[in-house]
Order: sequence, then C-alpha cells, then structure tokens
Amino acid sequence: MIEVRHLTKRYGGHTAVSDLSFTIEPGRIYGFLGPNGAGKSTTMNIITGCLGPTEGEVLVDGHNVIDEPMAAKKCIGYLPELPPVYPDMTVTEYLKFVLRAKGVRRADWDAQLRRAMDRTKLHDVAGRLIGNLSKGYRQRVGIAQALLGSPKVIILDEPTVGLDPAQIIEIRELIRSLGKDHVVVLSSHILSEVQAVCDEIMIIAHGKLVASDTAENLTALMAGGAHTMLTVRGGEDDVRGVLDGVEGIERVIPMPAGEGETAVQLVTAGGADVREAMFFAFAKANMPILEMKRERATLEDVFLELTGSDPAHEKEAEQA
Ligand code: ADP
Ligand code: MG
Repeated sequence: MIEVRHLTKRYGGHTAVSDLSFTIEPGRIYGFLGPNGAGKSTTMNIITGCLGPTEGEVLVDGHNVIDEPMAAKKCIGYLPELPPVYPDMTVTEYLKFVLRAKGVRRADWDAQLRRAMDRTKLHDVAGRLIGNLSKGYRQRVGIAQALLGSPKVIILDEPTVGLDPAQIIEIRELIRSLGKDHVVVLSSHILSEVQAVCDEIMIIAHGKLVASDTAENLTALMAGGAHTMLTVRGGEDDVRGVLDGVEGIERVIPMPAGEGETAVQLVTAGGADVREAMFFAFAKANMPILEMKRERATLEDVFLELTGSDPAHEKEAEQA
C-alpha cells in the first residue's frame, strides 16, 4: 500500500531521516516508535506529500508522491502533529471546509460527514465552535477530518499527546476501530501506546530504522529479557559459589545490598525461570534467601538494547 525507498531528509548539515526503507501492507495498524527528534514527523510529512525528500521516493497505492501528488494524496488522510486550528468555525463548518478542500463531490458530502462523525462520535458537538472544545474532542475533529474522502490510509502523528488518561483510552479505541477498514499508521514516543494499539512496530532512532517487527515478536523479545532479583544473607563470594552450581544462569550483576547481604540480578538463557533452583541451592548451602523476585523486561529495556539510547533521556535533552 505504501512503499518507502531509501528516504533521506537533510536540513542543512543535519540529517533528520537517513536511508529509510519499509513497506506498509493493508489490513494492519503500524506504529512508528521513537524518541523525540527521531524523525517520525519528518517521515510522515514526506509520505503525505507535505514535505519533499532530499533523496528517495514514496509510492502510495502505486502513485509516486512527487510525480503524482494529487493521486497519492487522495489515498491518505493525515492528522499532523500540529493540526491547523480553526477555533472560530463550528465542527460541521470546518468539516465541510475540508470536504471542499479535498475536492469531494457535493453529492457525497452528507454521507461523508455522517460517516466521519459516526466514527469519531462528534454528533453531539456538531454545532459547537472548535475553539470551545476539549483537547480530546478537538483531536476527534482532527481524526474526522482525516477520514473525509474515505482514504485507504490514515496517518496520525502522535494522536494522544496532551490528552488525559480517559481521553487517551477513547482515542486508542477509535484508532483500533479505524484499523478495521483503513491502513493506519501512527507515531508515538510512548512504548506502551504502540504496544496497545499496533500490529506492527517500527522503531526509529536518529532517523534510522533500528527494528521492524510484529508487536507479538517484540513482546516475545521482552519475555526473553526477563530477569530475577535475588537478595541472600551472606558474602558475595559465597553467593557466587552457589550460583556457579546452578544451570542456565548467563550473567550475575551485583546490586546494592545491606550489611551482611548480597543482592544480584540474574540473567538467564531465554529468560528461563530459575527461582525454584535458587531456593533449593541456597537452602542446601544454608544461606537464607531474603528476597527473590522475577521481573519482566520492559519495552524500555528492549529499546535501550536496540538503540543504545534511553528514550526518556533523549526526551529531556530535546526539551532542554
Ligand atoms: P520526531 O517527530 O520523531 O520527534 P522530527 O521528524 O520532528 O522528529 O525531527 C527530526 C529531526 O529533524 C530533529 O532533530 C529536528 O530537530 C530536525 N528538524 C525537523 N524539522 C526541521 C526543520 N524544519 N529545520 C531543521 N531541522 C528540523
Ligand atoms: Mg514528531
């Protein structure tokens, strides 16, 4: 449905997007995941024809975005990161304005309006000024706008940013329902968000694609990263001596511990659960286990491993 080939975007000496290639197939919800400044918005702006690439090309349903911008744009509904605001228009006025701008035939306006407003549950606020709506409703107007003209692809740039938790849940449900009859591509810097909504996850960092996989596979990768936290009464050498006798432990990472105690983090092959083996081994050595807990790897851990950068830190750096 969308074919991105060797996309590069440079701003002066700064490369925002670097040799990005991927394919987007129908019937799935795709998530661009990456910290602030990764190049998500730049990529989306190029796919939607709002920005020209420095190198590379984008085909949307077979139409080259640069050579046939009208045909390509007709296939896509876009909610940009900073949607244009029309606070003095009512919801209906604004959506009609968009229908006209998209060149939708007047005979189809009613059906188009009804469908977009049904999907986004906007009927109750149809006559309200956009400027008076809550951020959650304004975001729904932005999504309704993207739906007009029945494009095959819906692209949403950080659709839940700035919303409260209840609004986030609503918008996520809406996005999932859109996935039933549109190809949906959304971006987010929130790991749990793409995991909750997307079938396919593309991780980008520093303008490059660092991973592209199904949400299930990334979750499986996380299961492999599960580890065990262990605190034992006794010295570190004795603890290591016992651990040496337990099969399947790949790495022992020392952790801060209290007086006369040793705390370690255990990494096992494939994230195997070694808690029972620990119990018997330390009981046999007459060393009481004071605390033992198995922890799943978070998507943050996976992200760190893949990109070598901490998304939270990059975000702070970006804001500073
Ligand atoms: P994201 O959406 O993932 O946060 P962006 O695509 O907005 O990232 O930005 C990618 C990089 O390109 C950032 O380093 C950003 O500062 C830079 N950038 C974006 N737009 C411009 C611009 N108009 N001029 C110069 N640099 C830009
Ligand atoms: Mg962005």
